[in-house]
Amino acid sequence: MITKKNILNIEDYKPGKSIDSLEKGCGKKKPIKLASNENPLKVSKKVIKAIKDSLNKINRYPDNSAEILTEKLSQKFSVDTSSIIIGNGSDDIISMLCQAFLDSESKVIMSESSFSMYEICSLIQGAKIVKVPLKKDSYETNLNEIHAKISKDVRIIFLTNPNNPTGLAIEEKELENFLKTVPENIVVVIDEAYIEFSCAKSAVNYLKSFKNIVVLRTFSKVYGLAGLRVGYGFMASDIAKVLNKVKIPFSCNNLAQVGAIAILEDKEFFDETIKIIKEGKKFFISEFEKLNLKYIKTEANFFMIDIKRNADAFCDKMLQEGIAIRSMSAYNLPTSIRVTIGTKKENLSFIKTFKKIY
Ligand code: PMP
Repeated sequence: MITKKNILNIEDYKPGKSIDSLEKGCGKKKPIKLASNENPLKVSKKVIKAIKDSLNKINRYPDNSAEILTEKLSQKFSVDTSSIIIGNGSDDIISMLCQAFLDSESKVIMSESSFSMYEICSLIQGAKIVKVPLKKDSYETNLNEIHAKISKDVRIIFLTNPNNPTGLAIEEKELENFLKTVPENIVVVIDEAYIEFSCAKSAVNYLKSFKNIVVLRTFSKVYGLAGLRVGYGFMASDIAKVLNKVKIPFSCNNLAQVGAIAILEDKEFFDETIKIIKEGKKFFISEFEKLNLKYIKTEANFFMIDIKRNADAFCDKMLQEGIAIRSMSAYNLPTSIRVTIGTKKENLSFIKTFKKIY
């Protein structure tokens, strides 16, 4: 076996554990998972019904172009169907982008503390990574510094808005000015996995002005379908054509397509999610302030907090008490943790355990 050299040194993606493996791992009957920024509500009833109704079709391959879902997204966002790509989660589209635009001669620019799949997928293609630290103290994405790192070999710039793990959004004017300065041959990916929770303006509005942007969205967060794996991207049709060349056939399965179509019509579920996250945010902020903690004013469904001590050890202790949260050590923030906003009950349990360990 002769593995490609660039793959040998890649660190595996570190996923949040599933509820079942958490239960085994921490020995608690009902562990609370606040580690993967999932939707804390139960699955939409409309989705369950739609999936049950289509179970008898899984002997057939799915619609490769996910025509109905694409059409629905096209109407919702007023974007032509030729500019939409559906993937097996937005991870899949990140991977397609890297396959399509990167090789060992290319460079990719990303924030030092942002979603790890950008780095993994880029390294798989042998590309060189240029990491830009977040702004000191404010933790904001440093667009000036990203701009300063642009060189002739750069093929992709990854931005996350709002960012994971900080939850901070990029200021609208700042993003627009940045996009104006990026050479057209560089693809700027704006990952909006959490934008529904924020007040930030979506870059979908810039698709007509900037032909080199790709806007990523997902059904895993606000729509509560993380287990189905559906993501979508908006881009100029020229970029979509290229991605279709590397897309794995039938990557978005039957049930995922049906579930995504159903959730788009469940406004009640969407509104309830936003309400629960807003309430949870308020609760966390009041508790963090009482504890004098340095938290970031998130625009997403999670908080990043600098606990001023070893985050790995802290998260292990929380896990022993049945609460799964994330250490940010892998994001080069070794004293910070990230906690997803859950249901009222989950948030209370988190705070209670947090106080005990802290
Ligand atoms: N982008 C960001 C910023 C994320 O945090 C995540 C998931 N944690 C993803 C993309 C991947 O989402 P999906 O489930 O659609 O693959």
